[in-house]
Amino acid sequence: MAIPKIVILGAGYGGIMTAINLQKSLNYNEAEVTLVNKHDYHYLTTLLHEPAAGTVSSEAVKVKVKDLINEQKINFRKGIVESVDTANRRVILEDGELEYNYLVMALGSEPETFGIDGLKEHAFSIRSLNASRVIREHIQYMFAKYKYDKDEANVTFVVGGAGFTGIEFVGELADRIPELCAQYDVPREKVKIYNVEAAPTVLPGFDQVLVDYAMKVLTEKGVDFKINMPIKQCTPDGIVLASGEEIRSKTVVWTGGVRGNSIIEKSGFETMRGRLKVDPHLLAPGYDDVFIIGDLALIMNEQAGRPYPPTAQMATQQAPVCAHNLLAKIRGGQLKEFVPQLKGTLASLGKGEGIGMIGKRKLLGNTAALMKKASDLRYLYMLGGLSLVLKKGNLLRRV
Ligand code: FAD
Repeated sequence: MAIPKIVILGAGYGGIMTAINLQKSLNYNEAEVTLVNKHDYHYLTTLLHEPAAGTVSSEAVKVKVKDLINEQKINFRKGIVESVDTANRRVILEDGELEYNYLVMALGSEPETFGIDGLKEHAFSIRSLNASRVIREHIQYMFAKYKYDKDEANVTFVVGGAGFTGIEFVGELADRIPELCAQYDVPREKVKIYNVEAAPTVLPGFDQVLVDYAMKVLTEKGVDFKINMPIKQCTPDGIVLASGEEIRSKTVVWTGGVRGNSIIEKSGFETMRGRLKVDPHLLAPGYDDVFIIGDLALIMNEQAGRPYPPTAQMATQQAPVCAHNLLAKIRGGQLKEFVPQLKGTLASLGKGEGIGMIGKRKLLGNTAALMKKASDLRYLYMLGGLSLVLKKGNLLRRV
């Protein structure tokens, strides 16, 4: 009998952890597994706001895929996925095709701009390691430019969205500003950071005590909040709010929402904001050979009556279930159901500051920052064991 072909698309949290879990149990020649990713490295998406602000190097948050996989068991193919032809069980890549018997789609998400005029064209988003490098370089260039032309729009920074990513990014940016001011000889009072949010509060849905703490810390760091103020338009010169107020800025970073990677729609799946409602085994409905995980998977929280938010925590918890189910498919066995085990939520507010909820416990300040760091180290350990923790752990900032 031919060896079954398993193809995993994406080496982010969901994809790489599926490959790592699979390689632990897979016998030689039991399956031909191919992991496909745009880059030859895995990056820690949850930390991208740090290289974007320039508070850590890009190297700190990236790990070569080949350092994480056992090449005796997993083939790595660097390539760009264009679509999936499920009828013929083929993945269409920019430079070729791959056949599969079982497929895992773990391609993450892309920015959701909610049709706001000009946002797609003129705003940055923290969507990949390369995108965060561009943001960091642009911010530095803006300081140099201000020194040259004294246009205050060059040192006015707008972050659209005050959810987790927005809050974490303004915290880092505020930390970076004093260093940039010193480097480019720009007075601190000339630099403005606006965090603009359409909802009536920052961190919608989060505990009020933690929201108040986050706002206090960030306001003290120099962040100006514009809450309950939807952005109507983004132009090369800044933003226009629904109220008509304009903010001149040469740097708008949009963090206001994500949707699943559009490849899932290009491949003919019906989605809700780019996410596909999967069955309890993480299979696409109507398919017994396509698993969907991570930000692409929509899983309902029946108690709350809404989907679980897409997080790294969800993606990494789905990976072992997905790996188990792939093995069950090829060996014949019982499929496992995915049951989320939410451990809590943590957000950094820059160096040494954070907020979080672990179970019913609220965490503030340095304790939250330490817990966040511990959770990053735990992820590194799951990814590459103690040697990766020792290699990368110190490069990650925050406490
Ligand atoms: P990803 O980890 O994004 O991986 C997708 C992979 O697919 C990437 O390697 C990408 O290069 C690859 N890919 C994409 N398109 C293609 C293509 N066409 N061809 C080939 N490869 C492709 N979650 C938390 O739980 N806690 C946090 O604190 C947190 N903070 C965050 C902070 C930021 C700045 C951001 C942006 C996100 C944060 N998240 C956080 C969300 C979390 O990062 C995502 O939910 C998680 O990364 C989803 O995992 P994934 O495997 O679905 O996708």
